[in-house]
Amino acid sequence: MWRGCGLRTFLLFMGDPSGAPTPWGLASLEGTDMQQGTAPHAEDTDRRSPALAVAAYMRVSTAEQKRRYGVPAQAEATRAFVKQRATWRLEGTWEDLGESGSTTSRPGLNELLAEIVEGRVDVVVVSSLDRLGRTEAAIWHCLWQIEDAGAAVECCDLDLGEPGLDKWLTIDRPARSVEADYSRIVTRTQSGRQLKAVDGGWPGGPAPYGYRISGKGAFGSTLEVDPTEAAVVRLLADLVIEGGSTLMDLAEELNRRGIPTRSGKPWTRANLHRRLKGAAFLGEAVFRRPDQQWGGHCTRLDDSGQPLYGESVVIPLPAILAADRIHAFQRALAELARPRRTPLGEYPLTGRVHGPCGRPYVGCFRSNDGVRTYRCSGWQQNVSCGCPYLRADYVEEQVARYVNVLLASMPLPDRPMMPLSSEVQTRLNLHVERVRSLERLVAQGAEELDGLRRQTLPSSVVAAAVRQLRADQGALVRVLAHARDWLEELDAQAGRDGRLSAVLGATAPDSQDLSPSEQRHLIESLGVRVDIADREFRYREGTKCLTMQWHEGTATPVPPDPTDTQWARIDEFLRSRYRPHHFRSPLDLRAALTGMLHRLRTGVLWRDLPERFGDPRKVRFRQRTWLADGVWAEIMKLLGEGGEGTPVLIHGAAPALSIRSAYGVDRAGIS
Ligand SMILES: [Zn+2]
Repeated sequence: MWRGCGLRTFLLFMGDPSGAPTPWGLASLEGTDMQQGTAPHAEDTDRRSPALAVAAYMRVSTAEQKRRYGVPAQAEATRAFVKQRATWRLEGTWEDLGESGSTTSRPGLNELLAEIVEGRVDVVVVSSLDRLGRTEAAIWHCLWQIEDAGAAVECCDLDLGEPGLDKWLTIDRPARSVEADYSRIVTRTQSGRQLKAVDGGWPGGPAPYGYRISGKGAFGSTLEVDPTEAAVVRLLADLVIEGGSTLMDLAEELNRRGIPTRSGKPWTRANLHRRLKGAAFLGEAVFRRPDQQWGGHCTRLDDSGQPLYGESVVIPLPAILAADRIHAFQRALAELARPRRTPLGEYPLTGRVHGPCGRPYVGCFRSNDGVRTYRCSGWQQNVSCGCPYLRADYVEEQVARYVNVLLASMPLPDRPMMPLSSEVQTRLNLHVERVRSLERLVAQGAEELDGLRRQTLPSSVVAAAVRQLRADQGALVRVLAHARDWLEELDAQAGRDGRLSAVLGATAPDSQDLSPSEQRHLIESLGVRVDIADREFRYREGTKCLTMQWHEGTATPVPPDPTDTQWARIDEFLRSRYRPHHFRSPLDLRAALTGMLHRLRTGVLWRDLPERFGDPRKVRFRQRTWLADGVWAEIMKLLGEGGEGTPVLIHGAAPALSIRSAYGVDRAGIS
C-alpha cells in the first residue's frame, strides 16, 4: 500500500519540528480495517453507540442510465461492504439519478447532508470514488461537504486512510485518474466527429434544414439536398427578400399554405427563426460554431472562447440558393426582429401564474416593444386557449406586495429561506482550518525538501527520499488549490446568506431587494400561486384596434405631440388629401390627433379619453379613416423625424389577480 510511505514517513523519520503531535498522529501507522468508519472527530466515538449509522450514496449519470449501469450494481457493492463490518448498520440509501457528476446541484446529496447534520448518519459509503464526482474538483467538494457536515466517507474499492494528510495523498491520484478517464471518453468521441467534419463528411446530428443525410449508417455519410425542404427554403427566401414581412407573418403564411415543419408541427416565430439563421441559406454548415448549437448541444468553449474539443470546421454543402440571393436574404433577414430568449431567472413567476384554461404561464419577452410579459403556455397550441397575457411588471409588483405582507405576518423563525447562518459559518470555519493545515503541510514539505538536500546520507537514499517527497508535495499543492476554490465558494455562499438574512429578517421585509433568482426561490418556498380572478377578462380595446396593430406590426413608436411647425405641415398635408368637408366637423383636428397619440401611449380606453381631446367617438372614427387611407402612416412619418417615441401600450386595464400561498393567507381581487 503506497500510502504507507511518503511525506508522513519522512516527517516521522526526521522528527516533527514543532514537537507537537501531528494531525494524523502515530495511530495512522496502524491504519487497519478496524479503524475504517471512525467518525472524523475521534472524541465523539466514545459517546456514540457502538453501531455506526451508515448511508449508501449512489450517483448515476444519464449516460450510465442508458447503458443500464447503475443503481443495482452500486447497491450490491455497498451492501456487501457494509455487511463485512460488524459495527456498521446500513441506515438508508440516497441516490442522484441522471445528475451530472460535475454540477453541484444534487438533491439526493443535499438530503443526505441534512441527515448528517441532524446526527443520523456517521459514515457515507460509495462504491467507488467516481460516485462523488467525475472531476477532481467535484470529488473534493463532495467529500468536504460530507466531512464538514459531520460524517466520514468510505469507498468500497479504495482504502481512503485516515482524515488529513493520509487521506489527501490517497485520494489525489485516483481523483485525477477519474477526471482523466472522463475527459478521455469525451475527447475520443469528439475527436472522431472532428475528423469526419474535416474530411467534408457529416459528423452526426440532425441534417440542417433543406438537406438530408445520404449514406446513413455507412462510412462517410454526407449531406444532399432534400427537394421538399429545399422548396420551402426557396419560398422563405422569396418571402423574406420580397415581402419584408415579420417572422410572425412568415410563420402564418407557411401554416396557411399547409407546409409543416420537419417534425410535422406548425411553424412558430421561434422555430422559424432557428431555420432562417441555419445553414441551408448559406450553402455551408459550421461544425463547432462557437455561437450556435449543434444538434441541440452547445459547443463547449474554453476560457479563451475557442471551441474546447477542436477547431471550427466549415463543411461545404450543395447550394440551394444562388450566391446573390444568399446576400439579399442575409440583408433582409438582418431587418427582421429576432425573438429573444431570456433565462428563467429573469421571470420569477414562470410556472406560478395560471390562466382560466389552467395551464401555467411562462415569461415571454416581446421583442417588438421590449415589454416583459407572462403568457399562457396554451397560446401556441393549434387552438389557442385565449388566456390574456400579463405585463410582467404588473403581476410581479402585485406578488411582491403580497409576499411582503405575508412575510411580515410570520414570526422570524417561520420565514422561509432564512439561512441557518450558524451552520454555514460552522462549515466555513471547518474548511478554513483545513486550508490552514494544508498550507502548513505544504510549507513543512518545502522545508523538509531543503533539509534533505543538506543531508550527508548516501546520495541514492537522499535522491529516493527527495523524489517521494516531491510527489507528495505536488499532490498537496493540488489539493490545496481545490481547497482554496471551495473556500471561495463557501465564502460567497456566506455572503449571499448575509444579504438574505438582511432582507428576510427585517421587520418589514421588502422582497424586491432580492435578486430575481432569489425571489423565485422565495416564491417557490412560500408556495405562491396566482390565478386570474376574472375568467372572462379580455383586453377589450387594444387587441382589436387596427392602429395599435399597425404600430406593433411596423414597430413604429408613438411620437411626441406635434409642435406648431409640425402641425402646420400635417394640416397642409391633410388639406392636400381631403375635400373641404373633412375640415367642417366641430372636431379640432389637432386636439383629436393629440388625443389619439395620448391613447396609444397610455392604453386608456376610448370611453375614458379626456374631454379636451374631443368626442371620443368622433376621434376614434377619424383615426380609423386616416389609417384606412394610409394617411396615418404619413402623419407618423412627419412626426417621427426626431426619432423619439414611446412603444404603443396595448391594454388599458389588467385582469384582477387572486394570489394565494401554501401559508394560507388569501388576498383576492388585488388590482
Ligand atoms: Zn391558457
